[in-house]
Amino acid sequence: ERERLSLWRHRPAVTLDGQVIEMLANIELPDDAEAAVASGAEGVGLFRTEFLFMNRGGKLPSEEEQYQAYRRALEHLQGRPLTIRTVDVGADKPLDRAADARHDNILNPALGLRAIRWSLSEPLMLRQQLRAVHRAAAHGPVKLLIPMVAHLPELLAVRAALDQVRAQWSIELDGPWHPVELGIMVEIPATALILERMLPHVDFVSIGTNDLIQYTLAIDRADESVAHLYDPWHPAVLHLIGRVIQQARAAGKSVSVCGEMAGDLSFTELLVGLGLRSFSMNPPQITRVKQRILRADATKLAQAALEVLGSDNPHDKARQLRLL
Ligand code: PEP
Ligand code: MG
Repeated sequence: ERERLSLWRHRPAVTLDGQVIEMLANIELPDDAEAAVASGAEGVGLFRTEFLFMNRGGKLPSEEEQYQAYRRALEHLQGRPLTIRTVDVGADKPLDRAADARHDNILNPALGLRAIRWSLSEPLMLRQQLRAVHRAAAHGPVKLLIPMVAHLPELLAVRAALDQVRAQWSIELDGPWHPVELGIMVEIPATALILERMLPHVDFVSIGTNDLIQYTLAIDRADESVAHLYDPWHPAVLHLIGRVIQQARAAGKSVSVCGEMAGDLSFTELLVGLGLRSFSMNPPQITRVKQRILRADATKLAQAALEVLGSDNPHDKARQLRLL
């Protein structure tokens, strides 16, 4: 029985009409990659590297330590891709005070110096992380993902930092340079709305629904008192997600969802209907989402998704159409 389940677990997720859906895992620490593979993940779509930076009494990890961590994750993945996100510290994932006291007394940390904003304010840290990622790339397929990008110049600044790292690389003869695909998280409404201008500068995009919902609806994702208003079914949220998938596909760039929505069974069919072909989720969800996909017809779902998006009450409509 266990063997049968294991065979099933590693079967590709293909819809009834032959659409292949990529099933990726979200991880927080290198060894999580082992469980991800055991759960049937075809790779890691989101490595939240900030967990290497938190709760360390203020001492941030060196380039070498990061390199070892990424390399270890790649070893577990045995040739499967690893998407490494640069640190997303700040807001709900604060650094230790000793490492960065700038977060004290900030009224709106979710709108503050977090994620790529923090990295760009710490050029040395950014450079170390970029170097560690490229050193790890010698051990398997690596992609680089930038969180919380809102402005094109932020993306261009990361590209410039990458160019610098590469220039230094050839001077110091650090061994062959393995190119790494560059992608951005789409988790701010502004980014979803000007995605066309970002797309020429990236290889892929990943939709962070957790923050996209927070920033679209102005609901603090960590505030219990407004949790009932944190509504992934809000038409504006669905509209933005549909738009990003469509724009990315039209530009021939791969697009994934790595927020909690990707592992939520009530959204599996809608997301497939919206054109999503890559999901990244917490490993324990993979089997159940895959079961849904194996029973889905992507062509029929595309029609249903249009109806859901056009409805005043998308949740009711989805229920009516039996997508939940
Ligand atoms: C998201 O915002 O949906 C996301 C995947 O990133 P995090 O939850 O780490 O902010
Ligand atoms: Mg996020």
